[in-house]
Amino acid sequence: MNSEVVPAQLQPRRLHSRSALAAESIFSVMSRLATRHGAVNLGQGFPAGSPPTLLLDALKAQAGTADQYTAPAGLPALREALALDLNVTAEQITVTCGATEALHTLADALYGVGEEVLMFGPVFDIYRPQALLSGAVPVLCPMALTPEGWTPDLDALERLVTPRTRALLVNNPHNPSGHVFTRAELERIVGLARQHDLWIIADEVYDELYFGEAPVPLRELAPERTFTVGSAGKRLEATGWRVGWIVAPLDMAVQVTGLHQWATFCAPAPLQSAVATALPLARESGFYEDLRRSYGARMRLLASGLRSLGLEVQTPGGSYFLTALAPGLDTLHMVEHGGVAVIPGSAFYTAGTAPEGLIRLAFCKPARDLLRALERLEIYLNT
Ligand code: GLN
Repeated sequence: MNSEVVPAQLQPRRLHSRSALAAESIFSVMSRLATRHGAVNLGQGFPAGSPPTLLLDALKAQAGTADQYTAPAGLPALREALALDLNVTAEQITVTCGATEALHTLADALYGVGEEVLMFGPVFDIYRPQALLSGAVPVLCPMALTPEGWTPDLDALERLVTPRTRALLVNNPHNPSGHVFTRAELERIVGLARQHDLWIIADEVYDELYFGEAPVPLRELAPERTFTVGSAGKRLEATGWRVGWIVAPLDMAVQVTGLHQWATFCAPAPLQSAVATALPLARESGFYEDLRRSYGARMRLLASGLRSLGLEVQTPGGSYFLTALAPGLDTLHMVEHGGVAVIPGSAFYTAGTAPEGLIRLAFCKPARDLLRALERLEIYLNT
């Protein structure tokens, strides 16, 4: 063997420059570290434990009936169940592999190279890389953080619109802030979209998780330009199922489905079938009311516990997250030495722009985990 030749396995190999976006997501990092160090995981937003019986029973009942491809638009029974639930037509719906793939498909469908996509900061970490993968430019519009909580700065939003702006991405209820946009805020956003002919991507995966006023679906205010994203994982406490959906304006739905088919062709058929059965049952049985009651109680438990430790907490109007200010806290140090995983606020901002000490905590965990996390936090913050 020629000793000049470096063995292939030792040569650094480069993927396309897009792989610069391949860094591990903060949610995976924190879940991995929480497992390694035995920490209570209030980082990644997924419920601990099993999904509700109504979903598991539906899965068992359909066994053996839906194991081949569905049409790319989705299993007809699921599209019909969604149409009823969301008050749209089945033709508008594309079933996707989770809301993440729905957002990815919409980025492919709507964002052109060099075009700008406006989104509120703090921003859910998936939106920016997805825009960049489409060659578009994510532009963050700040939400103001005051002792009363988070407020979107809609004057700033207006100033940030340029001739290159193509779309507005609105997450409502908003992750990580928990802000529920008021009807007046949404109407102003819609006015701006109409004035500048922008698409609206409405990520409404937490649509059933609110603690005060119910969020207004953006598609009701601007049906002609709104693409709604939803998630069975969030609604039915089964985030690993990867069943999400897009509701498109009727005349664009076939194109959206056509793009989704090149990514995954269709979402897993047995899971689509179970969700089709579970969705009307969840609606009729009061499951979402119970979910709100139970998550609301856990939110108040965590918020008051954090306040009694001296942290400033922003009470969320929706989602299963709350934010707090813990100046000087090092979240990587804490997961290892304090036994609690949370998400650092810096994950939701461009470098150096996050409010000092901002952290996000997920309260979709059993009360005993929240209490254990509070005990550990008390010790960690005081040593
Ligand atoms: N939506 C979840 C969160 O904000 C995480 C989603 C993910 O990890 N892909 O924690």
